[in-house]
Amino acid sequence: MDEMSLKEGISLVKRYNKMTPKERDQIKRQRFYAMVTFARKHNPLYAKLYQNLGVNFFMRDVPYVERDYLIANKKDWLSDEIIHMPVNEAINTVRSFSYDSDYARFLFHGSRYVIISSTDGALQQAAWSKSTSVLSVFLPIEEMVSRLNELRPAFLWAYPSTLEKLLEQKRSGILSISPVLIIAGGESLSDELRASLIDAFDSTVQATYSSAEFGIVASECQMGHLHVNDDWIIIEKADVNGKPCAEGDEPDKILITNMFKTDYPIIRMTLPDSVHIHDKMCPCGNPSPWISITSAKDDIIRFTADNGEDVSIHIDEFSSVLKDIKGLTGYQILIYTNNSISVRMEVEDDSAKGILFLQAEQIIRRFLKDKKITASTITLDADTPLRNEQSGKLKNVLDCRD
Ligand SMILES: [Zn+2]
Repeated sequence: MDEMSLKEGISLVKRYNKMTPKERDQIKRQRFYAMVTFARKHNPLYAKLYQNLGVNFFMRDVPYVERDYLIANKKDWLSDEIIHMPVNEAINTVRSFSYDSDYARFLFHGSRYVIISSTDGALQQAAWSKSTSVLSVFLPIEEMVSRLNELRPAFLWAYPSTLEKLLEQKRSGILSISPVLIIAGGESLSDELRASLIDAFDSTVQATYSSAEFGIVASECQMGHLHVNDDWIIIEKADVNGKPCAEGDEPDKILITNMFKTDYPIIRMTLPDSVHIHDKMCPCGNPSPWISITSAKDDIIRFTADNGEDVSIHIDEFSSVLKDIKGLTGYQILIYTNNSISVRMEVEDDSAKGILFLQAEQIIRRFLKDKKITASTITLDADTPLRNEQSGKLKNVLDCRD
């Protein structure tokens, strides 16, 4: 089957927007059924998983699957045979625009779409349509800037940590692009960075809940709420057995289904992040469900305070602690056992690294002291900040304890 054009994508989305709730449910059921049928026929992993599933089934009958299981069985999960469903990232692109005027400007500016992400591995390769340029997040900044200046995207998707680097380049006049829309995904976008990006690029800046693996799951509306692209993505609240939650019950798992990725199907898979699904309708008028990304387990770091008690610190709070040091262009704080810490630094001027480290050390000690924690040792790591080898995400704080 052929890939869908952007125009066809738009028309599908627009048609869905006009449907009654009953019609929407019906089309989602059809797409879900088609996806499951496809997966059990073409994908060895799902063929095994669904061997006891009858021909007629409801969504709740389809076994849920842990994401770790899919990753561990990647060989069976990723199909060699890539058959595209008649829909592609066009859908997600269209969904990302919460202002019609932005969308019109995007088309007017040539609809060029650039994603800066990890380009390693089959997952990422398979995720994007042909009409999109993908730049590796690992490119040296000079090369990334020169490629972007060539491509002049009207739509740019990147991690906030990458956007921060591009912001410096834009401010210094080396980067000359002015995308209509900048989408931040994969990491959390701070209000401060959002404001600086709007100011420097004169673009609409939106947060999304997205990853190379799932595509854009939810896009921000004008109220700042993340609406699920629910015509092609289903997010469910489930109990411990993967069955739908009774109303009012706290879910044990949140499951995600993507109804158009056939190369590595994601059907009722546990989400790695902690997501809250809101029951009330959003005042913006968009009937699609909206979600908030709540703290994932990994986002909390626990220290032992001086009085022996456990203290929890949210990673976001710790992440920004060194951001005001002048001359420090990037950093990563590594936490080891016994409150021992080391810091990776990227600096403008190498000869100032020693002095900047002393400042960083003082700030970290003060930050922890306010929480009644004494850092045992703080040392300077020889490396500069390193991105995660697979996802390309950059975390300012890494928990390196076992
Ligand atoms: Zn809304």
